[in-house]
Amino acid sequence: MSKSIVSIGKYEKPFESVKKVIELANGLENLPSKAKVFIKPNLVYWNRHCTIPKWGVLTTSRVMEDVVALLKEKGIEDIIIGEGIVKENPKDKETAADAWERLGYNKLIDKYGVKVYDLFDRPYEKIDLNTGFKTNFSSDALNADFLIDIPTLKTHAQAMVSLGLKNLKGLISVASRKKFHNADPVKNLHYNVAQLANKIPPSLTIIDGIYSLERGPAIDGKSHRKNILVASSDILSADMVGAKLLGIDPSTVPYIIQAAKDRNRPTDLSDVEVVGEKIENLASHHEWDFKYNDAGDLPLPFQRAGIEGIKYHKYDSTMCTYCSGVNGLILIAIKMAYRKSKPFDKVEVLSGKVMTPTPGNNKTILFGQCQYNLNKDHPEIKELISIPGCPPSKEDIQNALQKIGLRVPKSFWDNLDKAPGWLMQKFKGKPEFEEAFFQVK
Ligand code: SF4
Repeated sequence: MSKSIVSIGKYEKPFESVKKVIELANGLENLPSKAKVFIKPNLVYWNRHCTIPKWGVLTTSRVMEDVVALLKEKGIEDIIIGEGIVKENPKDKETAADAWERLGYNKLIDKYGVKVYDLFDRPYEKIDLNTGFKTNFSSDALNADFLIDIPTLKTHAQAMVSLGLKNLKGLISVASRKKFHNADPVKNLHYNVAQLANKIPPSLTIIDGIYSLERGPAIDGKSHRKNILVASSDILSADMVGAKLLGIDPSTVPYIIQAAKDRNRPTDLSDVEVVGEKIENLASHHEWDFKYNDAGDLPLPFQRAGIEGIKYHKYDSTMCTYCSGVNGLILIAIKMAYRKSKPFDKVEVLSGKVMTPTPGNNKTILFGQCQYNLNKDHPEIKELISIPGCPPSKEDIQNALQKIGLRVPKSFWDNLDKAPGWLMQKFKGKPEFEEAFFQVK
């Protein structure tokens, strides 16, 4: 049986490094001449009100331009870059437009004639990915002749890693993304992610590891400069090698296990030929999980800060991306506003689609419409505080926190749009974190 080739290269200079790693993997050998090519970066989040840390979170514009330039060199004219950036309001057009401008994608349009699409403005096709429900999948991606998938080298708090397969989740509609985090114990997030490449055209996966990310996938993770590039025409092989580079055994990653099982393949890389740099010379340990206490009902930073009287259970894979962002907000608000002199009065917070109330609590917060629907009539609940909505609104969160006695300063809510910019502080005086990688000249 022939082995899948995965190439690993070092990022050393513009264009040449990306070209070399792709050629080492024979990554464009299945690219038809005059092909329509769809490129999927990872732009998981954007904020038009402030500058956010992008290192390891977003695909670099450097690699995007290098890939586009290589396609042009090969005579490819029809190039689409498409992404569905997670937004609070799906009708918001300004966030994607701002991302295209500030990440230099508008310059890629001018320089190379590419098309850049906010996938939420584009058609989806209902397809069967073998998930048990129909998925709305980007029509532009499905109908391309060739797909280039460019995730970053990052971990993921629910999926363990977010590489080639996981990056394809940005090609599906908001409703389908929510369904992917379903409560089915078998056809769960991991199973569903493993199905994402089932209907795509021939593809090339390029893992952009100029920066990597611990405790991803978002801007509160820990970034590292790594200068690693990975390429393969086989998406699963690329992901297995990517996991190894993150210091994570692919045979422990549920979506990789499922994807390998579906393809009747091993997860030990025995059917993969790695060319170029060696994994062992570049791999390094990356934490993927946010730490909780032993009972799993309090984030470790809460325990260390002496926060008492609240059970805030660890998120599970059924909490979708849209609640995850808001969940982070609640945690920050509690950490910031909690006073040791006023411990909470036996509060329990439940999220996602499967958690159920435990006995002995005085107040139960049901966070998100899924939770409300599941537990609103649960007999263990003494006082119900609901944060409905899908995802919940900031106003409802404010009200709920007031009901558990937390006084969050008004300035916190007034400045939320710009709050992610505070995270830039940790990168001050660290020249290896270069904004220039996210610009196009
Ligand atoms: S309530 Fe939250 S977890 Fe449930 S589908 Fe809506 S956003 Fe996702």
